[in-house]
Amino acid sequence: MPTQTEVEQALLRSLLKHGGVIKEFGSGQEIVDEIAGEFGLSERQRSAFLETIYRKENRVKKSLLWHRLLFRAADALARNNLVTRPTQTLQLTNKREWLLTEKGFDAALKLCKIPAEAKEFLPTKSFEVQKIVKKLTESRRTEDYDPFDKNKRIVKTTRESALRTRGFRQAVIEAYNCKCAVCGLKISSPDSLSWEVEAAHIVPHRFKGRDDIFNGIALCHIHHWAFDVGWFTLLDDYKIQTSPQLSRLPTDFGSVEGYDFLRTLAKKGKEASLPCSREIRPHQNAVRWHRQNIFHQ
Ligand SMILES: [Zn+2]
Repeated sequence: MPTQTEVEQALLRSLLKHGGVIKEFGSGQEIVDEIAGEFGLSERQRSAFLETIYRKENRVKKSLLWHRLLFRAADALARNNLVTRPTQTLQLTNKREWLLTEKGFDAALKLCKIPAEAKEFLPTKSFEVQKIVKKLTESRRTEDYDPFDKNKRIVKTTRESALRTRGFRQAVIEAYNCKCAVCGLKISSPDSLSWEVEAAHIVPHRFKGRDDIFNGIALCHIHHWAFDVGWFTLLDDYKIQTSPQLSRLPTDFGSVEGYDFLRTLAKKGKEASLPCSREIRPHQNAVRWHRQNIFHQ
């Protein structure tokens, strides 16, 4: 059987591989078998029982040794603030999972020899970032919403702003079910960890646009670019409006094998696909600003 330290390290690597979360250990959980597989445990080792004798009650309690080892290792990680326990994660995400903390995320990256800078681009969940996601998706929508964050620092990245950026990305991408709001494209990397779709700011970051759900929209790379340069915008009722300048483009621009990335959006009445909950859709104040300042008439 592996040592507890080896199991702790295997757990951290698995957490990274599974986007920052793994389910609570129970019989039949894939993760229990997956990690056992990493250590090459035999069937006998996987099903070995540990007998604990309760002298006072005069009874013997049986538990699976491999489960016990996994639980002990995860418990040690939680005590060192590298993961949160399923009971703690439940209060935040409504799921019984072991979730990485920022400290655990750093430790997992180091173990897997991934440079610390990669953290910004990995969609891995952490307790601290999920706290921001929860706050963003539950924030109240107001008529007089201001899409500008006057205190936003554009040049210098602080730890706090880096966490907020990751929270913004995760909140927007999840709210849009990992699909482009314009063309519906949904595709992940082969390891299922990252999504092609991006969380776009409606009032751009460089204009101090807020990192919140009302100033965000999920777009594929091509439509993100086209939105940022003003080829299309959204009306107050979320219908897509394309620039009249599209008609002046040469015919071989903007299309691949017959699919036209921009002109297909010009169909009258085409609406963006937005989250079902109206409360978290883009705010009209942000959309209006985009129409007036970025969109090319
Ligand atoms: Zn798209």
